[in-house]
Amino acid sequence: MILRIAILSIPLRREFDYLPIAGSDGAIYQPGIRLRVPFGKQQRIGILLEVTTESEIPKNRLKPITEVIDSTPLLPQSLHSLLLKSASYYHHAIGEVYETALPVLLRQGKGSSQPEQVVYSITEKGAETDLNSLNRAPRQRQLLEQLQQKREISGSSTFMRELIRKGLAVRESRAVYGQPPAVESDTPHQLNDEQQQAVDVVHKQLEQKAGTPLTPVLLEGVTGSGKTEVYLQIIQKVVDMGKQALVLVPEISLTPQTVERFRQRFDLPIALLHSGRNNSERLGDWLAARSGEAKIIIGTRSAIFTPLRNPGIIIVDEEHDSSFKQQEGFRYSARDLAVLRGRQERIPVLLGSATPSFESLHNAESGKYRKLILSRRAGRAESPQISLIDVRSRKMEHLLSAPLLEKMRGHLAENGQILLFLNRRGYAPTLLCGSCGWSSTCPRCEIHYTFHRGKNRLICHHCGGERPWPGSCPECNGSELRTVGAGTERIEEALHREFPQLSISRIDRDTTRRRGAMDEKLQQIHAGEHQILLGTQMLTKGHHFPKVTMVAILDADGGLFGSDFRATEQMGQLITQVSGRAGREERRGEVAIQTRNPDHPLLQTLLREGYPTFAAEAMAERKVAALPPYNYFTLVRAESVQPGAALNFLQQVKEMASSYAISQVEILGPVASPMEKRAGRYRAQLLLQSSYRKPLHQLLTILMPAIESTKEGRKVRWSVDVDPVDMF
Ligand code: ADP
Ligand code: ZN
Ligand code: ZN
Repeated sequence: MILRIAILSIPLRREFDYLPIAGSDGAIYQPGIRLRVPFGKQQRIGILLEVTTESEIPKNRLKPITEVIDSTPLLPQSLHSLLLKSASYYHHAIGEVYETALPVLLRQGKGSSQPEQVVYSITEKGAETDLNSLNRAPRQRQLLEQLQQKREISGSSTFMRELIRKGLAVRESRAVYGQPPAVESDTPHQLNDEQQQAVDVVHKQLEQKAGTPLTPVLLEGVTGSGKTEVYLQIIQKVVDMGKQALVLVPEISLTPQTVERFRQRFDLPIALLHSGRNNSERLGDWLAARSGEAKIIIGTRSAIFTPLRNPGIIIVDEEHDSSFKQQEGFRYSARDLAVLRGRQERIPVLLGSATPSFESLHNAESGKYRKLILSRRAGRAESPQISLIDVRSRKMEHLLSAPLLEKMRGHLAENGQILLFLNRRGYAPTLLCGSCGWSSTCPRCEIHYTFHRGKNRLICHHCGGERPWPGSCPECNGSELRTVGAGTERIEEALHREFPQLSISRIDRDTTRRRGAMDEKLQQIHAGEHQILLGTQMLTKGHHFPKVTMVAILDADGGLFGSDFRATEQMGQLITQVSGRAGREERRGEVAIQTRNPDHPLLQTLLREGYPTFAAEAMAERKVAALPPYNYFTLVRAESVQPGAALNFLQQVKEMASSYAISQVEILGPVASPMEKRAGRYRAQLLLQSSYRKPLHQLLTILMPAIESTKEGRKVRWSVDVDPVDMF
């Protein structure tokens, strides 16, 4: 008996053969269980893929495994096969694919039983008790208040024992997962026709006979059109049927606000899988999903690998968001895997966005997806009025042009809140010497350092490298150091000068690093404590700012002329998403966009006709240029500390690839990467493209193991990216 095993965190695209433990019962070796195996001098965790009788390695050289960890397979069969399929689609090592899919504690070999926790929950009597009756026991009053708000808390104290004695709280020991329902509940809205149609289509899919193939639904709904309401009503049905709903959201939009809407709607705990939770919380939620106990699971990218006992639906919110694509290691797209998983499990898949990706629009056009539209804002909110501010000939201080300031004053006078968007943090992106022309560059990346005034340091936004403010020019010793350009830190300073009496909140990675800082800021914003919000990308998604009446994009030009072919698409999405933050409630919002290219045709289309027409025009350009989604790309990247090594290596890869003579695949390059140097390494890339997936995969299937076995392949770092979303 030979055990074929995937070893976690081994980047090699191959499996390893081992022998069973001498004298052990063969029946314990079920594919899908974890094992501990000797690997070199170490012990590693592996997953049993299959039990066979043949090995290419002579039997006397095979080693026995050390330990069997699980008594039953870790994942349901369908998920196991999804992982195998993903490994072959992305041409990635199965050991790393498994590693990505498993919670950290399971990767480390920990047991897979649901962690138990002691919680204190409120009784009916406790919920009805008037807090003032505890005025003479302030600590008890405080605890009861917490309980009334949260329903349950962990952590014991003498005061808690008092509450228990009075019958206001009870102690329970149980498997805990997720977030308990909110105390304040909300009821479903009466849907408008478009929402109702979307709900009906998916409800019908849910009622289909098991095994019927289903078409994924793309829900294109302008911001505020009630997509979330549609999700909630669909999930209600899923839950009523005793099934589970898996909801994927972009990394930065999984805010307490988002979770709160689910907690208010459902009288069920919500399992949450994202990086903000600790390892045992994540394991607990993962296990609750696997056992079927958790009915609603919300998570970021890697949650697509959550095992589900009774899968009912997969919903991907903001499906265009690039955080669904992992950009290192196993470079999978959670959105694409959602569609694959849905097809495999025969369950509905719903992709929602105000600004669908061109990939999804193309799939809808070709009939692979069914597109449904929510064209109007739900409730009373009107669409915002959008205007361009031509800043070509304007003198302006730090991106605050006179017309912009005037508009701002108008809104401030009417007590509106203003949101300013700039996707550049720090004080200034460049530091120059006025006498000799020296500029500060990161030696490892050969790009400018960004000056951060708060820290008084120069920071490289590509590799994270830092150095102190030089004080004087390192070249000529001159003291005329000048900062050029503006990031959020500098704009904040300029705003304080312009509006000294107002409160301004800056939201970027620098101001929200501390745990809980983002939540605090959001709460302040909702309480109306700040008149002006200034932020980066972090502000654009999933947040509801009901008091915001005006949104300004300080610099729209980066996207129009970015080096990447997706730059235009992303700019259109960003402008639309940011604009969607304006005027969500009673007041009509206003959006101002500052640009040096007011006549850019696509920008004009976006403003006059909206995202769908913009997308159609930009997609037509992609088609002419044979770019995705009209062509399939795979990027082979390489990097090395030695200049030229990556290019040489890719040249060899190209020759190997050409030698297989697979028709219909075009090989372009190798070329230096658009960002040639990063963190001290020189980078290059080779593009493989085809109008058909099949020949491309045929080629990769032969090419990857071949590269892996070359000597050169071990000297440089290289990776393969199927369907890349960025070309850097
Ligand atoms: P989206 O997810 O598309 O941005 P939401 O679901 O957040 O939109 O809805 C925007 C606002 O409209 C929310 O405050 C929501 O409660 C409200 N809403 C949604 N559907 C309806 C409806 N059918 N009638 C009235 N209000 C609605
Ligand atoms: Zn100088
Ligand atoms: Zn750097």
